[in-house]
Amino acid sequence: MKPTSSYDIIVVGSGPAGQKAAIQGAKAGKRVALIEQEQGIGGNCVYRGTIPSKTLRESAVQFERMKRSSEVFEGGLRLDVPLASLLLRLDEVIKAHESYMANQLTRNGVTYRHGRAKLLSPHDVQLEAVDGACQTLKAETIVLATGSRPRSIPDIPIDHEHILDSDSILSMIYLPRSLAVLGGGVIACEYAAMFALLGVEVTIIDKAERPLSFLDKEIVELFQHSLQRQGGRFYSRHTVKEVAWDGVSSVVAQLANGMVVKSEKMLVALGRQPNVEELNLEAAGLSLDETGWLPVNEYGQTAVPHIYAAGDLLGPPSLASRAMEQGRRAVSHALGLPVGEAVNQIPIGIYTIPEIASIGLDEEQAATRYRGPIVGRARFTEIAKGQITGSCDGLLKLIADPSGERLLGVQIVGEDATELIHLGQMALQNGATIDRFIDTIFSFPTFAEAYRVAALDILGQRRKRQGTVQAA
Ligand SMILES: Cc1cc2nc3c(=O)[nH]c(=O)nc-3n(C[C@H](O)[C@H](O)[C@H](O)COP(=O)(O)OP(=O)(O)OC[C@H]3O[C@@H](n4cnc5c(N)ncnc54)[C@H](O)[C@@H]3O)c2cc1C
Repeated sequence: MKPTSSYDIIVVGSGPAGQKAAIQGAKAGKRVALIEQEQGIGGNCVYRGTIPSKTLRESAVQFERMKRSSEVFEGGLRLDVPLASLLLRLDEVIKAHESYMANQLTRNGVTYRHGRAKLLSPHDVQLEAVDGACQTLKAETIVLATGSRPRSIPDIPIDHEHILDSDSILSMIYLPRSLAVLGGGVIACEYAAMFALLGVEVTIIDKAERPLSFLDKEIVELFQHSLQRQGGRFYSRHTVKEVAWDGVSSVVAQLANGMVVKSEKMLVALGRQPNVEELNLEAAGLSLDETGWLPVNEYGQTAVPHIYAAGDLLGPPSLASRAMEQGRRAVSHALGLPVGEAVNQIPIGIYTIPEIASIGLDEEQAATRYRGPIVGRARFTEIAKGQITGSCDGLLKLIADPSGERLLGVQIVGEDATELIHLGQMALQNGATIDRFIDTIFSFPTFAEAYRVAALDILGQRRKRQGTVQAA
């Protein structure tokens, strides 16, 4: 056993949450140790989540753009295309990301420790190196940022060859002819959209009435239409009774209503669970709550005040941007630095095809809080950029209060939605009025023009409403 090392802050996990926590501590002049069990720095985000999935998505989107120009380019995707050839840039992207992150940690003086962390007491962490050697690290503050992994479902035998989860889906050697996707959440819909666009016959099976049920209904409907046009199917309100590989060529899913869905591969995306088993939470007096996640206050403080937690470990929504902010916020609070506003204006960006993005209230939420909110719409078919690019599956909705003056939310589906949303986010954060979008001159042609078109739609409805009131 090596002698004990002492730090001001120990951060466990080097994903977006852990990295930002460590950098924040180091920038404040503290001695910080960052512990990571995997070979590389970056967490799920880099190796199994955001970066690999978005690299495949980029290939699918490029393929789709070429298809839109089918009068110029002939041919389609080969049926036996190796998946690796659609992920050619992945190694390059990961290397660039790794080197940027490693430099950032070194530059800021964060001590990187490779190994598995386990709590021994509220201030002591055991670091077990790859060769089995153990050392105790001590700290005033501990930040747990160990992330999450696909939720395991007892009755679904994931073999990572035929029945896969989001950690193994990209290990498929070839694009399958057909893919059944269990679940209607973000990961399920993103992969369903990508594979459908690449010519795979995709069937989503979910117990909910519609996929992405936490989002604006009209926005999701446009995504569903687009998926259907690519040949994708959505079996709503279906539960799966049994799943098995038939030993020859198909994964067979028996649904509760007697239906049988056969596919070459299956992606199981039925939620996530926190990575806590190795942490030995009890040794520090911590436990998960009844929802199965680690409870914290608005600063990320657990029941033991000097132990903080951040990122996916805290449960949905699982977003890298949210994880980073939580990591930064936790350490700022621990050090008595200003933490800034509560994290209530984080945009949701979903990389389906087309993309979906959301900030603030959606139409349904606004209707439950206000009597008669006004909704302005701009369809991408009305926008020159939409017509030029041929990406007409798009809709931007501005949600305004009943006076039609105050912006309450922005909901977008369509190309570049995850970029466009930031304009709405800035407007919301700065209390911009609907008229502000009308007075703003946008470059032409851009998708951003949709903001002005939707605002003009609200103006028209507002005038009508005022006219009705005056007439009455
Ligand atoms: C398929 C997929 C696509 C996604 N796409 C997006 C996207 O487009 N945009 C977006 O914002 N988010 C996306 N996400 C979510 C995003 O990846 C997560 O929100 C983010 O990675 C969470 O960061 P984190 O730091 O909490 O955890 P993680 O990134 O999971 O990192 C946790 C780290 O802790 C380490 N660890 C765990 N236990 C220990 C231990 N005992 N000792 C030492 N180290 C330990 C793990 O090895 C891991 O490296 C996606 C996720 C998936 C699965």
